[in-house]
Amino acid sequence: MTRITKHLVNLQKRIAAACDAHGRNVNDVSILAVSKRHGVDRVHEARDAGLTAMGENYLQEALEKIPLCPADIEWHYIGRVQSNKTRALAEHFQWVQTVAGEKAARRLNEQRPATLPPLNVCVQVCMDTDSGHGGVAPDDTDTLCRLIADLPNLRLRGLMTIPQPAGTLEEQRIPFRELRQLYEGLRDGGLELDTLSMGMTADLEAAIAEGSTMLRIGTALFGERPA
Ligand SMILES: *Cc1c(COP(=O)(O)O)cnc(C)c1O
Repeated sequence: MTRITKHLVNLQKRIAAACDAHGRNVNDVSILAVSKRHGVDRVHEARDAGLTAMGENYLQEALEKIPLCPADIEWHYIGRVQSNKTRALAEHFQWVQTVAGEKAARRLNEQRPATLPPLNVCVQVCMDTDSGHGGVAPDDTDTLCRLIADLPNLRLRGLMTIPQPAGTLEEQRIPFRELRQLYEGLRDGGLELDTLSMGMTADLEAAIAEGSTMLRIGTALFGERPA
């Protein structure tokens, strides 16, 4: 058994326990393996363990790794979207989870190659302005989502957030609850969304409790990141 297989077994136990505790079905919670700063060999190990979706934060690093990794991996970009990066993101990723403005959305739409299916997109929402992680304000989310839903080369999938680290489970649940309420409001308003990307190694139980459909997990799978 590889290290990652062992870690994955433990992670699946954590996920199953949280799903049990909160009346969720484990099949409704997927794992995005966050491979940032880990080498290609670890990505191969993760793929061999059965993980097919990988998340990367740094464009240059990802562009070097992607051609050396199994071709059936689904790549998710979870770093900050800057204008000078949109072309490479549109060409090399299947998902961009961190769209936080109209300009980035329009550029990704224009730059998505016609030979590829629409780019899956999540809108990153900033639930606490102190987190420093960026994202659109909750009040502006509806407008941005409707704009993206009308762009032909993008496929709006849902919302993501990176909250500030918080201590207790109850504290961790607050921003996740607010994001879920926003998500439900958008769905009630007619948008077809299926992805609520929230929860990392330290707060996945809180995210599951509040309805996460996609956990973004680095440390619990790969161990500590190299510096
Ligand atoms: C690094 C990172 C993760 C994974 O964090 P861990 O705590 O290692 O699980 C998830 N989401 C984003 C946006 C990240 O940058």
